[in-house]
Amino acid sequence: MSEDLRRMAEMLKAGASLLEEACPQCGSPLFRLTTGEVYCAKCNRKVLIVKSDEEAVSALTPMSLSTLEETLTVNLQRLERLARAEADPSSLERLLRLVNLHLEALERIRRIRRQG
Ligand SMILES: [Zn+2]
Repeated sequence: MSEDLRRMAEMLKAGASLLEEACPQCGSPLFRLTTGEVYCAKCNRKVLIVKSDEEAVSALTPMSLSTLEETLTVNLQRLERLARAEADPSSLERLLRLVNLHLEALERIRRIRRQG
């Protein structure tokens, strides 16, 4: 039995219920634990189910936004160093794509802040 199947079985045994929603990351069925938390057994992490963009925004506290922004900024600096040392064009392209994703995420954080 695979690791995630075993985790699913354990969750069900512990009283978790199977939800209709699927994990946004991997598409596996999600479980609601007895604590009320929603969990993906395959990704082995908590999942936040939100029904609309507004809920998604209010689910993000200013605290978690700042932490996220900090993480993204640190990552960007690391990516910048890697890009500077990278000679292989296809690796460089991958790095730049990551940089772009980080910039988009940072931009989105700032937009959420303005709304709040
Ligand atoms: Zn998942």
